Amino acid sequence: MTRAEIADLLGEEPRANVRAAQIAKWVYRKGATRFGEMTDLPENLRASLGATWQVSGLAILRKQESTDGVNKLLVHSGDQQGFECVLLPYSSRVSCCISSQVGCAMGCRFCATGLGGFDRNLDAGEIVGQYLMLQRLSPRRISHVVYMGMGEPLLNYDNVIKSLRLFKDEVGLSYRHMTVSTVGIVPEIRRLANEKLPIHLAISLHSPFDEVRDRLMPVNRKWPMAELLSACREYVEATGRKITFEYLLIEEVTDTEDQAEELARSIKGLPCLVNLIPFNHVDTEQGFRRPSRNRVRRFRAVLESAGVNVSQRMERGHDISAACGQLAGSHAGKFAKRRSLCTVLPSS
Ligand code: SAH
Ligand code: SF4
Repeated sequence: MTRAEIADLLGEEPRANVRAAQIAKWVYRKGATRFGEMTDLPENLRASLGATWQVSGLAILRKQESTDGVNKLLVHSGDQQGFECVLLPYSSRVSCCISSQVGCAMGCRFCATGLGGFDRNLDAGEIVGQYLMLQRLSPRRISHVVYMGMGEPLLNYDNVIKSLRLFKDEVGLSYRHMTVSTVGIVPEIRRLANEKLPIHLAISLHSPFDEVRDRLMPVNRKWPMAELLSACREYVEATGRKITFEYLLIEEVTDTEDQAEELARSIKGLPCLVNLIPFNHVDTEQGFRRPSRNRVRRFRAVLESAGVNVSQRMERGHDISAACGQLAGSHAGKFAKRRSLCTVLPSS
């Protein structure tokens, strides 16, 4: 809930706005889980709130800690439908990776979440709740949030926007420290550009060729490369912000030199960064493999010699399968029902 929504809930309470600000601070900044903890509220208010409402939280289904300090949680909010979030401590900052949906309907062939199907959207409380849960595990403050867990954020647009505003207004994070990653939902990229939120946008590109994208990511049949890139150009123009292109390297499928060359050509002149992600192992029908270091190096060199800004995803949490959807995928009784793509994609 936003502060205004909390004030509404307080109704006739004197100084409702002040009380709402206090409650928001307890929940979002101090991680309180009970009204009883909110010691600067009058005792009778604490009691009456506690009788009618609860500070909803998430429950942990499973927890995994990696040897490199990465903590991964499978959580739920009462219905046993698990979704994942990951705490990523680095030397200079602490980041977290959160989910926007239970499962995902986009069906990308390389993705554990996509192979498991779609169940439901998360609400803004469940999205921000993942941060609050992870903050409890972290001695250092989490300053960065990336929407790269389960689900396609732009197909849960309203809840994701509300969660971004909550992170800014109540948790106190900077928009510049928030990254939303999308598979390429073109109309929603345009809509996001108009929100004028100075967040980072990451686009999961994974190949410059429609034939390859079509095979890997069914969404490309609806919004092919040319349309996606023109939405990206509009986004950069409207917001004045760079875009990050996520590029998954799958051996012989996306890591070939001709794709590096074509990628460099197709994004020429667009202010952007290409982030290379070597494939994290997921059992796929096609038997996708992670490329050798040498192949990654060669791909990177082609981009760099064409003047492209390139980074490489830091490898974390390998021993706990920290890739998208892998924990939920190994949880018995997980999400299930796969819905067909066209029922969930907005019409453009
Ligand atoms: N649905 C959004 C955000 C969640 S996925 C999107 O697709 O962008 C976050 C990132 O993880 C995406 O770039 C996705 O392509 C990548 N990813 C999925 N499966 C992966 C795997 N097996 N190995 C490495 N990265 C993977
Ligand atoms: Fe969904 Fe992203 Fe996985 Fe594709 S990569 S199935 S869009 S979560």
